[in-house]
Amino acid sequence: MWATAVVAAIGALWCVAYLRAGLGPEAYGYVVVPAGGLLATACGYDLIRRTPDLDPVAARFWRAMLLAAGSLTIGYAWLAVDMFTHLDQVRTRNMPAPAAAFAAIGFLLAIYAVARVPVVAAGGAERWRMVLDRMITFLGCAAVAWYLGLAPMLSAREPWSAQATLLIGLGLLVAVGAATKVSFLDGSPVDRVAIRFIAAAGGVPAGGVAVLAVQFGYIATVPAQAIVMPLAPLLFTLGVAAQRRARRAPARNRVLFPYLAMLLVDVPLIAVAFGAPLRPPVRVVLIVAVAVSALVMVRQYLAYAENARLLRNARLQEERLQYEVSHDGLTGLANRALFRERLTAALPLRASVLLIDLDDFKAVNDLLGHGVGDQLLISVARRLRTEVGDSGLPARVGGDEFAVLLTGPDPEGLAQRLVEALSQPISEHRLLIQASIGVAVSAPGDTLDSVLRDADVAMYTAKQRGKAGFVRYVDGMGEPVLDHMQLGGELRRALDDDEFRVVYQPIVRLDDHRLIGVEALVRWHHPARGVVGPNEFIAAAERTGLIVPLGRFVLRETCRQAAAWLAEFGPDALLEAGLNVSARQLHDPDFVRDVAGALADSGLPCDRLVLEVTESAVLCGQQVSRALYELDRMGIRLALDDFGTGESSLSLLRAFPAAIVKLDKSFVDGIEIDDGRPAAVDARQAVARAVIQLANAFGLATVAEGIECPEQVTALRELGYTLGQGYHLAEPTSADGIARLLAGQQPAAPEEIAGRLS
Ligand code: C2E
Ligand code: CA
Ligand code: CA
Repeated sequence: MWATAVVAAIGALWCVAYLRAGLGPEAYGYVVVPAGGLLATACGYDLIRRTPDLDPVAARFWRAMLLAAGSLTIGYAWLAVDMFTHLDQVRTRNMPAPAAAFAAIGFLLAIYAVARVPVVAAGGAERWRMVLDRMITFLGCAAVAWYLGLAPMLSAREPWSAQATLLIGLGLLVAVGAATKVSFLDGSPVDRVAIRFIAAAGGVPAGGVAVLAVQFGYIATVPAQAIVMPLAPLLFTLGVAAQRRARRAPARNRVLFPYLAMLLVDVPLIAVAFGAPLRPPVRVVLIVAVAVSALVMVRQYLAYAENARLLRNARLQEERLQYEVSHDGLTGLANRALFRERLTAALPLRASVLLIDLDDFKAVNDLLGHGVGDQLLISVARRLRTEVGDSGLPARVGGDEFAVLLTGPDPEGLAQRLVEALSQPISEHRLLIQASIGVAVSAPGDTLDSVLRDADVAMYTAKQRGKAGFVRYVDGMGEPVLDHMQLGGELRRALDDDEFRVVYQPIVRLDDHRLIGVEALVRWHHPARGVVGPNEFIAAAERTGLIVPLGRFVLRETCRQAAAWLAEFGPDALLEAGLNVSARQLHDPDFVRDVAGALADSGLPCDRLVLEVTESAVLCGQQVSRALYELDRMGIRLALDDFGTGESSLSLLRAFPAAIVKLDKSFVDGIEIDDGRPAAVDARQAVARAVIQLANAFGLATVAEGIECPEQVTALRELGYTLGQGYHLAEPTSADGIARLLAGQQPAAPEEIAGRLS
């Protein structure tokens, strides 16, 4: 490129020197063109040889262009040699036919190359608009080329040789063709800027020579060609350079280009209107035509600018929308949809999924307020982002569920770091929240759902093993869940064979450990497996509906037993007999009648029966609600079991006729630990405190569940809890065991009984 620039400069200098000082024979003026052409050809060759990633279409274009440059160079070299051998005839000699033929072939090759560059395929109205745009552009450029170049040449006093006219015409055609093309290249493999330079390489010298000839006469043009003609190779190399840097930027002003072409048509019109001798009416019509086309152009431009603005807005809006539907509004992390999409894409590459569940988040949210909950989620998201970095995609996939898609190695390392990062106190509330993480690594053949299910199973396993930890999924981990399915069939048989028993766990006063009530808990005496706990079969019983007859059995058994204790130890021996009722039972239309029947048959007073329901069971619709209110009216007390772990404890307390809340074991666990950080408020303690405050505010009794050591008793008493249940106080035991405990107890003071029952 620089070398061709130097050649062009030499040509210009020589021309000045020739005109001023008559330097050298005129034939020198013909040398610079093939010299520059040779350099341009080399430049094009270099582009094709040394750009291995050149798009095939672009390569085809530049190969044809290279041939064109070569052919033109040969033609003009021939001409130069011819001029040097006929030094005395430089001004009168025509271009030799073979030279003109080479040059013409060069131009035709260039035209062919330009013509073959594909334009953007479009359909319908867009296609027609493009056709019209091309026609406008072509006619505009051609009108100017005609008016300024070819027409004056053809009508000149000293007529041009056929060769010169042909070559200038072809050069202009290259220019017009390439210029027309430029406006339609949208992300084409042939660079737009490069095509512009090609247009200029054809148009500038051809137009220049034509203009010079018209202005100064044919003869004066000979030395001046040394200025104008070497611009062609220079512009060609500039085009090659542009192609090298080619970036497929979308076209911005392709709509504008035809209007520029329209402006070009006005140029000869104006020249005629003001230049030629015309009758006044004709002149007026011409001027008006120019004005009208200029106004139309302005109008079109304004419409175009407005369109462009609207398009830009639409694009921005679409981007924003795209972002919104794929990201979580609160934390800014990817949302479930985006996560699933990315995971699907990553599956063939062996991806790891980390599923992160915040323990106790629901309780924090509910009892400390959504503001605190939101803040907590935001800081969790921030920690996730920091730990994950660019090695994966963190996402929020549920209320308090996060996930990470990891494409890099070592998912367990990341899980460990996350567990640690998330167990630091969070926000200015210095909440201690912990996370259970399930890790699953995809294997060939895994689907989106199978990986997510594995991660889910691993997460639940992590939760079961104790909080704040991670578990990686291994084959077979999901099997206990499958066991449940076969269980259904066995339960029916067990019910018929009378294999269920009820044990009772004492509920005691925290100050003197006096038994004031019991909770009934069902056990399955399996012939082969021995005693099986409810955690292993209640879910299956609920799924199969067997919970209804099973629950009826527990209800009748508990009422009968409690009535028997009252008969044996006096009416004040036992203030409450509680049993667990699942959602499915509450849905049973006969449930209220069953309860009334059990009470009537056993003779147990209504006020001694407590039905424990979980929050999720209560939130099950109108029918359940009606049943609960009916039970309440009958004088049966309702307890909210596992309080604090559900969705909406607070609103529930207002909508539901509860008499007792049972603080879930998870908030009792570790409540006694004083970690020496006075500023750090443990999330569990905060919840335990909030629960008792709520209960007091709503006038409810409380029972703290799962007390396992004396320190927990102390901590709970300090918070204001008076009743508790747990292995430390008493384990679930048979009816006989309770009878022995009751036998060893002094009767409660009458005023105390009155107080508790009121
Ligand atoms: P739950 O209602 O929260 O019952 C308390 C569970 O915690 C009982 O487990 C009890 O044995 C256990 N527990 C008591 N103190 C402690 C302690 O200090 N530490 C620990 N780690 N655990 C303690 P169980 O008997 O295995 O019952 C589990 C769940 O099964 C119950 O949770 C209840 O939701 C359900 N369930 C039990 N019996 C029935 C029933 O007859 N009907 C229905 N629908 N569900 C029942
Ligand atoms: Ca319970
Ligand atoms: Ca419970």
